Amino acid sequence: MASSAYRNGTSKGAPKPLASYTKSSSFKSRLHPSQSSGAVLRRSSYGQNAAAAAGDDGVPGRVRVAVRLRPRNAEELVADADFADCVELQPELKRLKIRKNNWDSDTYEFDEVLTEFASQKRVYEVVAKPVVESVLEGYNGTVMAYGQTGTGKTFTVGHLGGDDTSARGIMVRAMEDILADVSLDTDSLSVSYLQLYMETIQDLLDPGNDNITIVEDSKTGDVSLPGATIVEIRDQQSFVELLRLGDAHRIAANTKLNAESSRSHAILMVHVKRSVGGGEDAFSSEVDNSSHLVKPVKPLVRKSKLVLIDLAGSERVHKSGSEGHMLEEAKSINLSLSALGKCINALAENSAHVPVRDSKLTRLLKDSFGGTARTSLIVTIGPSPRHRGETTSTVLFGQRAMKVENMLKIKEEFDYKSLSRKLEIQVDKLIVENERQQKAFDDEVERINQEAENRITEVERSFAEALQKERLKCQMEYMESVKKLEEKMVANQKKHDRDSFLNEKCNGEVLGTSTSEEVSEIKKLLQNETQLRNTAEEEVKKLKSQLENFMQSMAGGDAEIVKVHRMLEDETHKNKKLEEDILILQSQLLQLTVEADQTRRHLDRGGSGNAFAGLDSFVSQMRHSQFKDSANGQKAPMATLFEQVGLQKILSLLESEDANTQIHAVKVVANLAAEEANQEKIVEAGGLTSLLMLLRSYEDDTVRRVAAGAIANLAMNEANQELIMTQGGISLLSMTAADAEDPQTLRMVAGAIANLCGNDKLQMKLRSEGGIKALLGMVRCGHPDVLSQVARGIANFAKCESRASMQGTKGGRSLLIEDGALPWIVQNANSEASPIRRHIELALCHLAQHEVNAKDLIGGGALWELVRISRDCSREDIRSLARRTLNSSPSFRAEMRRLRIEC
Ligand code: ADP
Ligand code: MG
Repeated sequence: MASSAYRNGTSKGAPKPLASYTKSSSFKSRLHPSQSSGAVLRRSSYGQNAAAAAGDDGVPGRVRVAVRLRPRNAEELVADADFADCVELQPELKRLKIRKNNWDSDTYEFDEVLTEFASQKRVYEVVAKPVVESVLEGYNGTVMAYGQTGTGKTFTVGHLGGDDTSARGIMVRAMEDILADVSLDTDSLSVSYLQLYMETIQDLLDPGNDNITIVEDSKTGDVSLPGATIVEIRDQQSFVELLRLGDAHRIAANTKLNAESSRSHAILMVHVKRSVGGGEDAFSSEVDNSSHLVKPVKPLVRKSKLVLIDLAGSERVHKSGSEGHMLEEAKSINLSLSALGKCINALAENSAHVPVRDSKLTRLLKDSFGGTARTSLIVTIGPSPRHRGETTSTVLFGQRAMKVENMLKIKEEFDYKSLSRKLEIQVDKLIVENERQQKAFDDEVERINQEAENRITEVERSFAEALQKERLKCQMEYMESVKKLEEKMVANQKKHDRDSFLNEKCNGEVLGTSTSEEVSEIKKLLQNETQLRNTAEEEVKKLKSQLENFMQSMAGGDAEIVKVHRMLEDETHKNKKLEEDILILQSQLLQLTVEADQTRRHLDRGGSGNAFAGLDSFVSQMRHSQFKDSANGQKAPMATLFEQVGLQKILSLLESEDANTQIHAVKVVANLAAEEANQEKIVEAGGLTSLLMLLRSYEDDTVRRVAAGAIANLAMNEANQELIMTQGGISLLSMTAADAEDPQTLRMVAGAIANLCGNDKLQMKLRSEGGIKALLGMVRCGHPDVLSQVARGIANFAKCESRASMQGTKGGRSLLIEDGALPWIVQNANSEASPIRRHIELALCHLAQHEVNAKDLIGGGALWELVRISRDCSREDIRSLARRTLNSSPSFRAEMRRLRIEC
């Protein structure tokens, strides 16, 4: 780099203490300790090295001073033709000698000595370029040209060059370098171009703006000219044009003021603002794109200022100072320059007070000269011996300036505007994101609400539909049952009519209204009847022949059997109970087979008086009496029979080990138990116990059926009922009810329990021993006879409960309901089998009489049945009972009101 020679060159040779100007140099606190004697000047370099050496607080440095000699001009070539130059340059030694006379001269050492042959480029590079570089690094910098008028200050600093680009001065070249270094995308450049004349600052870019004030930041010490025009620079050409414009304005202004350019200072201020990325400590430089909440990068901007000054001619200072002129004008003109000199002196001498505030120039340069800026001073001199004095004082000025130490400080500040912009962007992003999330949240809430509403609507709809369906179904069923009843009624009516008609026919009366259809119908019925009769007769004949065969096979025949045969013959004439008699005959046939066989064996053994003989005799007598009963409707003298055979004997046979004997015996006992007169005796003789034992132990269906039938008969008697209960009969019956399959067995068991159900005293025990459940369990069989007995049992139980409630001996809801009878009751309340229906209707009426059952009855659907009973039951007493019951119950009344049912 071309500037390196200048930077480093001075450090090679130790500056000599020259003349008296260096003798007392002591630079306040800013002077490096090694420099305190002034003997050794510290030569710190500009640029990065300097910054590195200084740490954060700043880089100490010294004002660089170069001296430039102008070549002789045309006038001097002539006028001074016979004289040697008053100065002699030793550029290699960076020394300048001013001849005092032919034999004596003073020697001065500078940072750079530029001969008359030095090119503008070289001058720029050694004087200004280091400062420019420093400015680009963020330091303030100043380049000033100081010298007598006509020595080339303007040529050095402000020459635009025109066609001869080699003639371009420092301003143009500095801007060229700056533009080359900055990036206008992130950095910015702006300039102000001013003139200081008679302590007034004028804007060369806006001539009307002729009294610009200096503003000083009390905190930072930064100097600014808020009133000055600041023009942004984007390219070199526009900058040069700006300078040209400023120069033109300068000339025009000076003409107007009748002033010379030499009396004013031209000041170009270049403001460089460079973006240097984020700060390291306070803000993260990493941007995590996944989060909206990263700390913003704090933009760091380095602001620096390059001040290039073409000073007024120095001769004025010398003149005013040396000649003591106090002219106002001279004072004004020179005030700034002399103040600059005084400040430089003060700084050079490390004086406690630097009179910065004495002039506009020194105020303007406060942050750009000495102190915290890099400063270069180019001292221009002419060669003419005529101006030796001026030249000498100029050189001395430069020498003093060389002692001024700078403490460089980088001006970095946060670009709050840009930070604010970035923050705003981030805030906007967050707002958008927040609104988006809020919207999403609201949508979700809305969706869930909608869904819930839909579901509710759906459920309500389906509920309403189901309700409607159920209502229709109930109505349909109700209508259906009404219809059936009506049909039945019509059928009954028809039957009644037909019977009347038949009667009339039989009486020989001619019916005027009879029709051929009716006649044929009756004919058909008669045919059917005849057919049935024929079939029955056929059956009887068959039996008869079988009996005859049997009789024949018996050797000698049996008088008893002959009797039976006779009775059978009689029986053939009895059509009324034909089927029943056949069954009896069948069973008796079997009995007789066994008996005959046993009798024969007995006879073979020749024994007599044994149980079977007596039994046979008893059975045949009994049978005889039974048939006789059937035929004549007269009771047989059973007591006699008991006496003949002996009840004990019969009962003992119940426990016989022989199965046939047992079956036979149980049948006999059952037959006996069917007679109310025998019941007490049977029980007294322990028959009930034996029968119960049979239920428990015997697995033969026939025995069980017959035993159950016997118990059922015995259970009709109130005294026996209690006995059955105390002997554990209910649980035995329950067991049989649970595992028997045969409908007739179940019918017997159900009948027995039904009888027990009708006993007021046994209610609780019956229920607690599972009687009701056993009863209900038997409905599984489905046989109408069984169902009828179940219904009867329920009705009996309900009746007893009702009675107990009325007497106040029972409270709480019905045990039937407790044991789950209600569903079956409701289900069968309208059974087609009238015995079932009748019993259930009664049961319902009993249950409904007690308000405590009302809720269950309503819930279980019994209300409809009660209403139906109250309207349609064929039995007037039940109908009115139902009506009364419904009307007397507040619950039923309320429910009927709700359902708009009228009773
Ligand atoms: P000042 O601004 O100090 O009053 P100028 O820059 O106006 O002096 O210079 C006076 C004259 O001398 C100008 O015509 C300029 O071209 C000429 N001049 C100054 N320095 C040089 C130089 N180094 N080489 C050639 N000409 C110069
Ligand atoms: Mg000039």
